[in-house]
Amino acid sequence: MFNFSEINEECGVFGGWCPQKNIAQYIKCGLLKLQHRGQESAGISCGNEFQKIVKNKGLVNLALENSLLKNIEGNFGIGHVRYSTFGDDRKENIQPLKVTYTGEDVSLVHNGNVAQAKKIREKFERIGEVFLSSSDSEVILKRLIFSLKKKPSLWTFEEVGKCLKENFSDGAYCILLYLPNRIMAFRDNFGYRPLMFAKCEEGYFVASEDVAFYGLNVEELTEIKPAYGVEITKEGYEIKQFAQSKNVCQCVFEQIYFASPASNIFSKNVYGTRVKLGKILFETVDKDFSADVVIPVMDSGLGCAIGYSQASNIPFHLGLIRNSWMERSFIQPNQEKRTLNVRQKFIPIKQVIENKKVVLIDDSLVRGTTSREIISMLKCCGAKEVHMRSVSPKIINTCSWGVDIPTREELVSYKKTDKEIAQQIGADSVKFLPLEKLSEVFRGDVWCKKCFKGVEDEVFLP
Ligand code: SF4
Repeated sequence: MFNFSEINEECGVFGGWCPQKNIAQYIKCGLLKLQHRGQESAGISCGNEFQKIVKNKGLVNLALENSLLKNIEGNFGIGHVRYSTFGDDRKENIQPLKVTYTGEDVSLVHNGNVAQAKKIREKFERIGEVFLSSSDSEVILKRLIFSLKKKPSLWTFEEVGKCLKENFSDGAYCILLYLPNRIMAFRDNFGYRPLMFAKCEEGYFVASEDVAFYGLNVEELTEIKPAYGVEITKEGYEIKQFAQSKNVCQCVFEQIYFASPASNIFSKNVYGTRVKLGKILFETVDKDFSADVVIPVMDSGLGCAIGYSQASNIPFHLGLIRNSWMERSFIQPNQEKRTLNVRQKFIPIKQVIENKKVVLIDDSLVRGTTSREIISMLKCCGAKEVHMRSVSPKIINTCSWGVDIPTREELVSYKKTDKEIAQQIGADSVKFLPLEKLSEVFRGDVWCKKCFKGVEDEVFLP
């Protein structure tokens, strides 16, 4: 699945131990199923005594071509797909990051954003330390080495956990460490990003989403709780707590937008959640509204549009086909390029749209660029009216936990009424799911919803 909305998330991680076979192909398969979490680059570190890395820019199949994987072999390994929110897309930032310390290799992959990284980097630089990349992941690795100051084969889960707790307590992270003959995985104490563990016939694996285990013979599946991690060795595995989790804060966008519909994260099936949100959206904002056709903005709008159609009895159709054969452009640095990107990514089906009153369902509205282009395409194809609906409330704030939401001023909903937003994106009307309705699906205080709130009511901030 690819997402072509305007929020980008930064990464997917996969790793583990596979005693009978070379793990590299298993990691590649896992990363392919996590491709929706990052399309800039992909990498694998694997081996036994020594760790070898293959990493490149591009989609998994290109970055990790089978001819390249022939050169790496081992039973332990970790892998990564990346979208950069912190650090740019230069080659040095591609993960896994590997260092050799006291003659032993350590590799790290990371999903999330650690706010303290900037300060720690500055401290290191003041004492003359150099960094090879601009990513916060290298800061984490360097901090671990400085704190533990001993051979990586002697690092204990408890020591690594203590170092993460003491130095990155405000961060959002899922970290996989590949040490000599061991994998360690850690999920931060707020639990912003998901982390799953699977005991399989083939070995033990850990990944951002359980969809990555599809195809393996899974015997037991466990969601790693916030402040917990797992240590995998040749002798077995152990799930352990490494910090106190006082304020769980799971990102609602993992359910609404980032994760694969096939995944089950934060104890919920993603597709089921999206269908439910679509139903609630209709029942809340459009009870007396009628139209000719419901069209999703693919891919994450799909489940929501099905739910909306089921609740409203308005026929559902794919009015926009996503062009899956196009190479994804990695960075869209300006408006003109973003516009072109949308036009290349979506192909309208005129027969579905012409002379129709269309309800267009999307997961969210961020800058409004995608919506404006899509609405313009639909109108060019003869749509009589286009009514935009979002299953997220208005996004009016940025994110400090690893999601690339632009500045407030760039957000289409910031300080604007529904009518003003409709005018800006060229829709006949725009409606959003109210926050209190979203909170009926994401109940309790374990969910982060900060980007739907202004600074004055940041009560959800940990
Ligand atoms: S601020 Fe929004 S995008 Fe960021 S973690 Fe919270 S819910 Fe997710």
